[in-house]
Parts: sequence; structure tokens; C-alpha cells
Amino acid sequence: SNTLMAGKRGLIMGLANDKSIAWGIARACAEAGAEMAFTYMGDQFRKRVAPLAEQLGVETLIDCDVSDADSIDAAFAEIEAKWGKLDFIVHAIGFSDKSELRGRYVDTSRNNFLMTMDISCYSFTAVVQRAEKLMTEGGSALTLTYYGAEQVMPHYNVMGVAKAALEASVKYMAEDLGKDGIRVNAISAGPIKTLAASGIGDFRYILKWNELNSPLRRNVTIDDVGKSALYLLSDLGSGVTGETLHVDAGYHVVGMKAVDAPDI
Ligand code: NAD
Repeated sequence: SNTLMAGKRGLIMGLANDKSIAWGIARACAEAGAEMAFTYMGDQFRKRVAPLAEQLGVETLIDCDVSDADSIDAAFAEIEAKWGKLDFIVHAIGFSDKSELRGRYVDTSRNNFLMTMDISCYSFTAVVQRAEKLMTEGGSALTLTYYGAEQVMPHYNVMGVAKAALEASVKYMAEDLGKDGIRVNAISAGPIKTLAASGIGDFRYILKWNELNSPLRRNVTIDDVGKSALYLLSDLGSGVTGETLHVDAGYHVVGMKAVDAPDI
């Protein structure tokens, strides 16, 4: 354990279960001495998230649907009443109709396009908007993205388009809020087996491909992401904003992998 986040208070959004990337980040922050509140979506997740909160001594658990402005307002009102300020926020939320996370992007429907953009992109802007008012001593906001924003990945489709917009929004908000000492960044995580990922077609194949072709020759874990998140959320990242940090075992630098030299 360390004291990187001692005295810091943060809101973690997007915890579904102990496989969630949000859980890896929450654990790293807890180990570094942060005080946290969690949001989750819907009653059915409360029973999964409550024991996780208890494990880290987190008392505040808020049901929040980011597609609903009133729900976001209510969550921030609760944070304001409890703490009056906020130092960091983690947005680990994404959603698309899984019937469109396979097949061709060009077949995306208008309704799912708008819903995917709303939940996977706009909601980060919506929460940073509220968080800004509570980050009176500066702060750090972090979201999660994927390489499918930059390059075409199988089945990522409309989610890739939404993540590209999300990454652009990180840059715009970094400029808007930089003068108030608020940093805004994203982590582009390699594929990890989570609930959200299970909706993506051929996900096991994508995992295997990344394991075999990334420079580190392995997949990343939620602990890998948690440690890098700690860097961006804590004072270690004090000079970093508007950045998309790849935590992907190096996969994004590979153009074409060499044939591994055979043992002689
Ligand atoms: P997860 O299923 O554990 O988390 C996704 C979360 O989004 C869930 O907690 C879910 O409740 C929440 N959510 C969905 N719709 C919501 C809404 N309307 N309001 C509030 N919350 C809502 O999966 P995860 O993989 O940990 O996903 C976290 C983030 O990481 C997502 O943005 C995802 O796109 C991103 N990401 C995941 C991977 C991966 O391979 N797993 C890779 C790169 C980026």
C-alpha cells in the first residue's frame, strides 16, 4: 500500500461485479488511501456491488443511470451533501445493443447509434460537467476507451465510433478545465473479459489474438489498468491531461508482428 491518494475523495462509476475494470481501479485507489463513493446501475447490481463496497470500506453506494439527467443530478447532490467537494472521478461505463456488436458497422440503426453515443460518450461529458463544480481544489477525471476508436477491430462497430468521439471529448474537456487545475484523461485498455466485453462478437478470439501479438505477449488485467489509473488520478500524473494512455501490453504499436525466431 501507499499514500498516493491519501486525503482524496473520488466517485467511481461503472462497477458491475468483481470483473469490472472499475473494480481494478477502485482497489488500486483504496490501497493508495483514497476515500470513495460508488455508483452502479439498477437494483439487480446492488447485491453484487454492496459486498465489494464493504470490502474497501466504501459507505456511499448510489444507483445512477447516466442516460437520465435527473439520476446524474441526484447522484451528485448526494456527493455534494456528503463531501462538499470531489478530487477525482472515474467513468467506466459503456453500452450498445449487442445485436449490433457483430456483423457490419454500416448496418447500425439510428436508435442504437444515438443510444450508444449517449451512454458511452456523452455521459462522460455530463458527469464531468457536474464534477467540475465540486472540484474546487482541482481534480482528475478518467474514462475508459478501446483501440477500436483508432483502428478497425472486428465487431466493435458503433462502439468504435462512440469511443472515437469519447477520446475527442477528453481533449476538449482537458482544454476547458485545465485552467481550473482539472485534468481529463482516458485509458485505452486492452481486451479484458468483463460483462460488457461478453457482448462483443468473437471476444475470445480477440483476447487470444492480443495475447499472441502484443509486445508483452499477454493480456492485461484489471490490476494493470488500476495501477495506470492511479498514475493519472494521483499527483504522479500532475502534468498529464488530454491524454489517451494505452494499457494494452503494447498492442497499439504493432504494425505487423515478426515471426518469432524458432529455437535452434
Ligand atoms: P462492465 O460490464 O464491468 O462495466 C460496464 C458498466 O457500465 C457496468 O457497470 C454497467 O452497469 C454500466 N452501465 C451501462 N449502461 C449504463 C447506464 N445507462 N448508466 C450507468 N451505468 C451504465 O465492463 P468493463 O469492461 O469493466 O467496462 C468499463 C469500461 O471499460 C467501458 O467503457 C468499456 O467500454 C471500457 N473498456 C473495456 C474493455 C474490455 O475489454 N473489457 C477494453 C477497453 C475499454
